[in-house]
Amino acid sequence: MIDFNVPYQTGKEAEFLGEALANKKLSGNGRFTKLSQQFFIDRFNIQKALLTTSCTDALEMAALLMNLNPDDEVIVPTYTFVSTALAFVREKAKVIFVDSMPDHPNMDVSLIEEVISPKTKAIVVVHYGGVAVDMDAVMALADKYNLIVIEDAAQAIDSYYNDKSLGSIGHMSAFSFHETKNIQCGEGGMLGINTPEFHERAEIIWEKGTNRAKFFRGEINKYGWVDIGSSFLASEITAAYLYAQLDALDSIQETRIALWNRYYNNLIELAQERKVELPFIPEYATNNAHVFYIITSDVIERSQLISFLKENEVHAVFHYLCLHDSDYYKRNFPDEKRSFPNAQRFEKCLLRLPLYNSLTLEQVDQICTLIRQFYALK
Ligand SMILES: *Cc1c(COP(=O)(O)O)cnc(C)c1O
Repeated sequence: MIDFNVPYQTGKEAEFLGEALANKKLSGNGRFTKLSQQFFIDRFNIQKALLTTSCTDALEMAALLMNLNPDDEVIVPTYTFVSTALAFVREKAKVIFVDSMPDHPNMDVSLIEEVISPKTKAIVVVHYGGVAVDMDAVMALADKYNLIVIEDAAQAIDSYYNDKSLGSIGHMSAFSFHETKNIQCGEGGMLGINTPEFHERAEIIWEKGTNRAKFFRGEINKYGWVDIGSSFLASEITAAYLYAQLDALDSIQETRIALWNRYYNNLIELAQERKVELPFIPEYATNNAHVFYIITSDVIERSQLISFLKENEVHAVFHYLCLHDSDYYKRNFPDEKRSFPNAQRFEKCLLRLPLYNSLTLEQVDQICTLIRQFYALK
């Protein structure tokens, strides 16, 4: 069976974990946490980085930092993972959805301005598959209406918008190290903060509402409860594992990109024959090979292809049930009557193929041969 995802291990994880154990300091904000955070600052030009236990946690920290009021509105794509919206809904904001582009799952930035209202507080963009949203357009709207921009960069490590790293453009950003992401530690995340006004408070929210981080730097002589917060920081066990992966970023990315290109080149003919659509990368974006997907003609064809691949020992999956159509959203926001045709097409027709470091080029060829067989039989 070719699995859909196998979490990669570089081989260095055990060594760094051993060092963390030998240091006898396993709670958060230790040596490996600092190394991981500094990696994001140096390599991706992020102003301040805080390691969290998940990307969801990082988004929740962003929501807390924004001081949301119950009537505030936050603009999010409907075609995304639950956390993109949930983090803000938990703070009682109302999420306002935006459709995808016709040719890419990313939100269509030309549809944002029409949903901005006097209650709008923020725009949350998701760089789907690590492919950049058109950030100049988003930041121009943010300037014009005085909004906060948060990049859900869960899938977007080591990817760029023109020459800017994703995660370094919005006021805040959130990365994920869930085992399905390019760089993983089982569960983990990073909050990026690119505006000085949030630096100090972010650290307090991260450390259970205390000014403990400041105390550890020797800037104050005792620490205490100064604000709201939670225990958002990850342990040194997580950080040590993660740092082994960050240390191998270039080789991990090289392998993923080779696999992605192999899929693309193998399937280009099927796309030219208009049997499937292949991923589209806008000129302003790079490809970090987070996902490889194809778009089928309809949901029935997708189900048949998933079954055909499964019969032939290949596990392929689809994802994102549009959030506007979820039980939770419909129950709590029954007034939303708009439809989101592009997002709904991706919901029904997008199929993700296996992509991970231990997958081989030969296995990619095998999967593509099966896909070609499926369309030849149709
Ligand atoms: C994976 C993912 C998340 C959630 O990440 P966790 O680290 O599991 O909390 C959020 N948003 C997007 C777009 C994701 O792909």
